[in-house]
Amino acid sequence: MNASQNIEGQCLCGAVTARAVMSKPMMRACHCDMCQQHTSSMFMSLGIDQGSLTLDGPVKTYRSSEWAERGFCGTCGSTLFYGTVEDGNRHPSAGLFQTLEDTPLKLEFFADDALCGIALVGEHRKMTAQETIALFAPKEGEDQ
Ligand SMILES: [Zn+2]
Repeated sequence: MNASQNIEGQCLCGAVTARAVMSKPMMRACHCDMCQQHTSSMFMSLGIDQGSLTLDGPVKTYRSSEWAERGFCGTCGSTLFYGTVEDGNRHPSAGLFQTLEDTPLKLEFFADDALCGIALVGEHRKMTAQETIALFAPKEGEDQ
């Protein structure tokens, strides 16, 4: 049984407060090139209830591709979220929420592109770059 929990976190300088609802505690990791550039390692996000994330403070966004944007604190630069533009989904940085416990890592994207020396422990699904791209690629005949 997982009860919904209200979670709250802050960026490094404290200027941005993040709040969300999480019904099924889980984390995902992404090792794609852009996440590596953005974070210096990988992007660890929390699986929150979509639509529940609120951010207060000097939030800036960077449109990193046609379909996605990344949020960061305008004061300290902390990574806040990865978001998809079309559906407005938000995947907040796990590191903002320092007090979370029992939030298992469930999935790695681009696992075969992880930086040298990075190997995440535990039982979870590891998708290769090819599998990740296939998962998110538009289906034939679909408009983007
Ligand atoms: Zn900040």
